[in-house]
Amino acid sequence: MRPSIHILRGLRFRLTLTYVLLFAVVLVGIGLGYRFFLQDELQDEVLATLEAEWGEAKGYLRIENYQPVWTVDVEDQEDNFIKERLRRVILLTDARGNILIESAIYRSIGIDSPEEIKRILSLPEPERKIRYDQDGVPYWVKAGNMPGEHGDKYFFAIGRSLETSVTAVRNFTKAYFLTLPLILALISVLGWMLAGLVIRPLNAVAQAAQNITGSNLSIQIPLRGAGDELDNLVESFNRMTARLNESFDQVRRFSTDVSHELRTPLTAIRGQLEVALFTAETKEQYHEAMINALEDVEQLSSIVRALLLLSQAESGQLVLQKAPLDLGEVAEDVVDQFQIPAEEKRLMLKSRIEPGIIAMADRTQIERLFSNLLSNAVKYTPAGGAVNVTVRRDEGNGARIEIQDTGAGIPPENLPHIFDRFYRVRNPHTNSIQGLGLGLSFVSWIVKAHGGSIDVTSTVGEGTCFTMRLPAEVPAAPRLTDEPASAVFQSRPTL
Ligand code: ADP
Repeated sequence: MRPSIHILRGLRFRLTLTYVLLFAVVLVGIGLGYRFFLQDELQDEVLATLEAEWGEAKGYLRIENYQPVWTVDVEDQEDNFIKERLRRVILLTDARGNILIESAIYRSIGIDSPEEIKRILSLPEPERKIRYDQDGVPYWVKAGNMPGEHGDKYFFAIGRSLETSVTAVRNFTKAYFLTLPLILALISVLGWMLAGLVIRPLNAVAQAAQNITGSNLSIQIPLRGAGDELDNLVESFNRMTARLNESFDQVRRFSTDVSHELRTPLTAIRGQLEVALFTAETKEQYHEAMINALEDVEQLSSIVRALLLLSQAESGQLVLQKAPLDLGEVAEDVVDQFQIPAEEKRLMLKSRIEPGIIAMADRTQIERLFSNLLSNAVKYTPAGGAVNVTVRRDEGNGARIEIQDTGAGIPPENLPHIFDRFYRVRNPHTNSIQGLGLGLSFVSWIVKAHGGSIDVTSTVGEGTCFTMRLPAEVPAAPRLTDEPASAVFQSRPTL
């Protein structure tokens, strides 16, 4: 069953929320921006009218005999109209503040004090200001001086209401911010549907992943072919299940192999004991059955020991005792130990060792490495063949170890598996040869634990060569130009 996700924590909800919030911020920003722009535009428009009226007023109004006189044609309707318009918000005083003309609206804005009048009259240019009447309606007011006949100054001010622009801005704001929630609700629905579309393939992948269990890890989620991030995810997921499948297979193979390997000596022991119990009559017969059983017990213990060691190695419990180690010297020792088995099989065992190749290594493990590889080489090389062990400087200044034989060889299809635990090549040439299939697993672990690498090349019927590279401190080569390269090596042929 698919685990249920709380809706608020779901990707769909979070995607929609982010989308709606983003829209809300953008729309509020646009609304506020437009509101200020509109307000500015409308105020500028009123200001332009005020300026025009200021000019008109200066043309139609004069001071004669200390009294204001409108120079309009009383017969002309338009002149009268202009005069009425100018008189709507107007104030005319003398320099001391004695009022000559005053309109009711201007009174409501507030008659300027004598100090204010004095200040304005002292300014070189008229002054513009937004002022408010008693009801809070704003006005653009322009105030300055009007020259009289005798060089005297009069205070003159006219105003223009901003009420229409304020109302327009207010109406716009109201309408905009009232419809905003509606727009956002619509966007939410749209966002929810869009997020659903985006999430749908994800849910399909989750559903497919649900169907994968431990026993059907080979199931692959089909790719949608969109080549997008989701396909990438599916591909990574498929690769992961393939790797898991491989590991599970290995574990399954391993358990089968272990039980198989343990069953063979156990059956043999059981047989020996039954022989002793039911058919042996003499002391010698008992003795022989016991010896045979003991041999099989020994084989059992060696399997268990090898397994234990390998699992300790792979789980990191086997701590390497690293110390400077002469790899050539160790190789020589192990080669010496294999001279007798090699001689018994009529094999030529030779070593070519470059002296002084020192590595920080664990002696026991390096000995095990040489001994496992030499044991294989001797085992899988038929009589009359040759085994060569080489230890020399690598190009990268590390150590290069080669163990090469002229034996049965390994078929190419088996090569990728020979380092797996319990893996043995099954063919008529090697079937009769005893082995656990653990030796190379160990070799591979030892090489890796020393920071090195291992390669194998093999040709069936011609032979096999294992090449290892280990980090080492190799001293400078002893004057290679003076002597032939082969002189650096020690050659020890053995039959
Ligand atoms: P085993 O105990 O079977 O020798 P290993 O892990 O040492 O186990 O080797 C795994 C398999 O690799 C062997 O069963 C064998 O088939 C193959 N093999 C290893 N070394 C050689 C070699 N030098 N020549 C041919 N085959 C080899």
